[in-house]
Amino acid sequence: MPPKFGGGEKCAICNKTVYAAERIEAGDKPYHKLCFKCSECKMSLNLNNYAQSEGVLYCKKHFSEIVTAKNTQTPVV
Ligand SMILES: [Zn+2]
Ligand SMILES: [Zn+2]
Repeated sequence: MPPKFGGGEKCAICNKTVYAAERIEAGDKPYHKLCFKCSECKMSLNLNNYAQSEGVLYCKKHFSEIVTAKNTQTPVV
């Protein structure tokens, strides 16, 4: 699929158009506010408490449980 310009940005989670009123941006990607939640517990996140790894969103708790635990052999950057 070629990228479309002028057609509005697509949510990185659900791939539907994001309008300004419902837009949240993290890591250079746009999201719907409603899609911006932990992939594990579905807790709603905001820019102050989210964590992200390889495009997947987590709350701080699940980020440390899943991502940090997985990377124990390499220092976290
Ligand atoms: Zn979305
Ligand atoms: Zn969580």
